Amino acid sequence: MIKIVVLGSGFGGMEAVLTLESRLGKRKDVEIILVSNQNYTLFTPLLPQIVSSYIEPRHIIQTIRDIRRDKKFRFIRDTVIGIDLNKKVVRLSEGEISYDYFIIALGGTTNYFNVPGAESYTFPLKTLQDSAELRDHIIDILEHADHEHDITLKKEMLTFVIVGGGYTGVELTTELRDFIYRYVIIL
Ligand SMILES: Cc1cc2nc3c(=O)[nH]c(=O)nc-3n(C[C@H](O)[C@H](O)[C@H](O)COP(=O)(O)OP(=O)(O)OC[C@H]3O[C@@H](n4cnc5c(N)ncnc54)[C@H](O)[C@@H]3O)c2cc1C
Repeated sequence: MIKIVVLGSGFGGMEAVLTLESRLGKRKDVEIILVSNQNYTLFTPLLPQIVSSYIEPRHIIQTIRDIRRDKKFRFIRDTVIGIDLNKKVVRLSEGEISYDYFIIALGGTTNYFNVPGAESYTFPLKTLQDSAELRDHIIDILEHADHEHDITLKKEMLTFVIVGGGYTGVELTTELRDFIYRYVIIL
């Protein structure tokens, strides 16, 4: 049996597993296994819309089991903690899994480009959890600012700084602007 292990259920991992499935899924001598620490795949381009409460988390995820349906690949929900190239095993937090081939699609981490304070004082926006935490924090701040009588403090509470002007930063800025001016501030 040829064992192919795909690590990560994001854009890369899902594309890999579905392509492998469509090309090799019918072969009896091939086993395809997807390993991920989350049991869904996330459509990241809409994360800023979660922050602005425009959509709900369930709108931008699709569960692996829903994608899998009658396909043959196996899904293991676990965290990859290492890969032993000599023994040809992927180490998981609950055991290990042997492979003949593996594909790594475990994503990346936020690059703060050494901007002082950015990592310590900002909220990241990379995962579903990040977006929900940021949304809750913003709503919390807005509700506290609502009954703050000190005008200077209120202004500080209502000042949002977005670090990074790439796709995510610009999208988040416009989403927040729409949310605050359309739904929060009644002029
Ligand atoms: C807010 C935002 C908006 C974006 N908009 C766009 C866009 O419009 N167009 C575009 O092309 N790209 C966009 N991107 C970038 C895009 O999301 C990434 O390039 C893409 O997700 C990378 O795919 P990936 O499979 O490498 O990693 P990811 O999609 O991040 O997937 C990584 C997977 O690995 C899993 N994983 C991580 N660590 C472990 C572990 N130790 N054990 C087990 N599983 C693990 C994760 O749970 C996840 O399933 C955006 C990103 C963000 C954050």
